[in-house]
Amino acid sequence: MAIIHCPGCNQRISSVAKACPHCDLPLGEMSDEDVRKLELRRWRKRVHRASNLTYMAMAAIIIGILWWWMSSPVAWQLPPPVVTIILVIFGGAGYVGGRVWLFWLRMRRNRPG
Ligand SMILES: [Zn+2]
Repeated sequence: MAIIHCPGCNQRISSVAKACPHCDLPLGEMSDEDVRKLELRRWRKRVHRASNLTYMAMAAIIIGILWWWMSSPVAWQLPPPVVTIILVIFGGAGYVGGRVWLFWLRMRRNRPG
């Protein structure tokens, strides 16, 4: 008996379990092909989520900079408004995080199939 990751919910389960105790996935009835498909779908969903994060982060940075430009009578006046600083810091962190996440997901050992 070994511990494996459920292809449906990624929780640790016994390799001899007939169904996942966490998400009720009927492992006993699933072929290797079904499991592979499920893993691929779950991986694609995570890639999608990671790229959405980078887009949202980029949008936050752009909004922050636009805010800076529009909120002062003279464009790009220093210091930038707090809103801009917050959006750029969170946007930058989110962007870097999303890129690292994407890179991690695309590494061969994390890619199903
Ligand atoms: Zn499960």
